[in-house]
Amino acid sequence: DKLELQVSDIIKILMNRGIMATANQEIPFELAEEIAMEHEMLVVREPEKDLVELFFEDKDLEEREEDLIKRSPVVVVMGHVDHGKTSLLDALRESNVTEKEHGGITQHIGASVVSLDSGETITFLDTPGHEAFTAMRLRGAMATDIAILVVAADDGVMPQTVEAINHAKAAGVQIIVAVNKIDKPGANPDRVLQELVEYGLIAEAWGGDTICVQVSALERTNLEELLEMIVLVAEVEDYKANPKRKAKGTIIEAQLDKGRGPVATVLIQNGTLSVGDAIIAGPAYGRIRAMIDDKGRRVKSAGPSTPVEILGLSEVPTAGDAFFTAKDEKQARQLANKVVDQSREKMIQTTPQKVTLDDLFHQIQVGEMKELNVIVKADVQGSVEAVKQSLMKLSNEEVVIRVLHGGVGAVTETDVMLASASNAIIIGFNVRPEASASAAADREQIDLRLYRVIYNAIEDIQAAMTGMLDPIY
Ligand code: GDP
Repeated sequence: DKLELQVSDIIKILMNRGIMATANQEIPFELAEEIAMEHEMLVVREPEKDLVELFFEDKDLEEREEDLIKRSPVVVVMGHVDHGKTSLLDALRESNVTEKEHGGITQHIGASVVSLDSGETITFLDTPGHEAFTAMRLRGAMATDIAILVVAADDGVMPQTVEAINHAKAAGVQIIVAVNKIDKPGANPDRVLQELVEYGLIAEAWGGDTICVQVSALERTNLEELLEMIVLVAEVEDYKANPKRKAKGTIIEAQLDKGRGPVATVLIQNGTLSVGDAIIAGPAYGRIRAMIDDKGRRVKSAGPSTPVEILGLSEVPTAGDAFFTAKDEKQARQLANKVVDQSREKMIQTTPQKVTLDDLFHQIQVGEMKELNVIVKADVQGSVEAVKQSLMKLSNEEVVIRVLHGGVGAVTETDVMLASASNAIIIGFNVRPEASASAAADREQIDLRLYRVIYNAIEDIQAAMTGMLDPIY
């Protein structure tokens, strides 16, 4: 319609390019872009929505102003390694009134709610580890309202500080700067503020609008002030949610628990989640059997901005996945199956020819290999994320490393099929392939490598990229 062409015209254009298309066939974005450009039209790619998101999308329109209530801000602490993220988070949590009242047993579920004397509450997400977790941090930031950017006053702005700033900005998250370690003799908070100007963060004291608080996590200096600033930003931003609707949110953490099965911590971003609800998160689905809050208490339901640990999922979801509440378990299962089918289809559509680490260098040299696809399986979600991140960092001008799929558990036949369809190698950490998977890998000639130590895998891939990998005889 926009091009003012008939469907038959488009089909003709495609035919001239050797594509026999029908009226309701999907064509690749690049092709659509090319054709549109030939007709002096620019097409813009919409951010890809996944199927489940689309399915639940229209329900968002039902939101009525009178149903909205104030919700707590969701805060994440970001910054360079050793600048005091963990210390600050711990120190802020200790300001927790409820914890003091109840004897202070905090469950580590990946997030926690801090109640202030004023009655306000703040939800903190744990920052999972250091630079190896950038990917998750990025996704985590999406569920986040405010990022506290920790910068050590004796060290200043460092690479991961800049990374954090960019991620927070990209996610549209409010940044509050915490200049930490002001107790240290070498501390120079002014230099930090100076350095931040270059990244568009201009302190209020300098005429800008970035809130900066000088703190010491160690000596607990100005922590109350920092908490007040969070509350202030929350008031200004006026975060709201509708507790009356079905819950949706994000998976914060997930793992397989020996006794309890798949366990996930979810952050509810909107709505109320209750025991008995059927939810779906990527390929995982299930009826919630039990919910546990960050204080270790069993709860029956939880509202917006609350993190809870949930039991009852069919498998371990991926941290960063969105979760939605389905009508019932049957619908959740159907949607989950669709997600699995869809991702399989997507994989099959991409790239032919098999790759192995042994011939990777050769393929790069002859220009055949521009992208190394990797499937990662590990015993714990943390390793999956760590490997993903380290691998992505190996990408260089010649070859980009793409982790197609990362998951917890043994290497399965499905993993091998995925690898085969999308020309990927599989690496496993502290997991074994199922017998059927080994057989399939042999048959499909998939490079399947098992490691105990992440470093060894990284080393191998790095070596393969530079043609230095010792062949296995
Ligand atoms: P992270 O890597 O950013 O999580 O940093 P940590 O919280 O692990 O802190 C790194 C080091 O800095 C630890 O040895 C902390 O004890 C120390 N540290 C953190 N905050 C402060 C502070 O306010 N003052 C001083 N002097 N040391 C701090």
